Amino acid sequence: MSQSRSEVKQIKVNGIREYATPNLVRGLTVYGEKLVKLDDEEYRIWDPFRSKLSAAMRKGLRDFPLNYGDKVLYLGASTGTTVSHVSDLVGNKGLVFAVEPAVRVARELIENVASKRKNVIPIIQDARRPESYFSVFGNVDLVYCDIAQSDQTEIAIKNCNNFLKNEGILLIVIKTRSIDVTMSPHSVVVRESEKLRKNNFHINQTINLDPFDKDHALIHATYSRGNIR
Ligand code: SAM
Repeated sequence: MSQSRSEVKQIKVNGIREYATPNLVRGLTVYGEKLVKLDDEEYRIWDPFRSKLSAAMRKGLRDFPLNYGDKVLYLGASTGTTVSHVSDLVGNKGLVFAVEPAVRVARELIENVASKRKNVIPIIQDARRPESYFSVFGNVDLVYCDIAQSDQTEIAIKNCNNFLKNEGILLIVIKTRSIDVTMSPHSVVVRESEKLRKNNFHINQTINLDPFDKDHALIHATYSRGNIR
């Protein structure tokens, strides 16, 4: 398969413009998404109601951070919906280390995604323990964190300190209700952003994912390794 064209496409389906990624495994769908043929290539429609990264693009993500050949550490892989689109985009020269601790969910990730895509490496571990990821080697270009835990910002920072390259990108989904139900969603996002700033991250953009995901935001931040390790 040609792999110079790993960028996100916009394709009209029934008159509506949708985002889509070039299918790394032709003919195979992951979560029932539509397949569309265009210029000799097959694309998978990227559902913004099923994937927060697609929702972030629909809500104006300015600087799309994924490139062909990138290495990605993905925390909270679940059954692999978003992982599969990331895998399409980084292509056969890239890698997605997909961390998911729930064994039954991880089994689906392996059966539906990792066993079909050579660039997805499943890691059945808790993201609180990055030192236990024996299959991750070298630094990664991007850390994606979507784990809906109250301490997820701390978990993301720990993983970045272990694996993210200098000037690498962190994308973190803030599910405000999982962090603090007593605070307003806006205050939670401000507080989590402050934690990132204090830990060598520069916040580039914060995107409210409503109406695709209520009370969720996605933060796009750049990491400065500075004097760490
Ligand atoms: N990112 C996925 C997607 O877009 O397809 C959806 C992720 S879902 C909202 C959150 C996932 O995080 C669940 O599968 C859950 O098992 C996982 N998770 C929860 N705690 C975790 C932890 N400590 N380490 C890694 N993953 C965790």
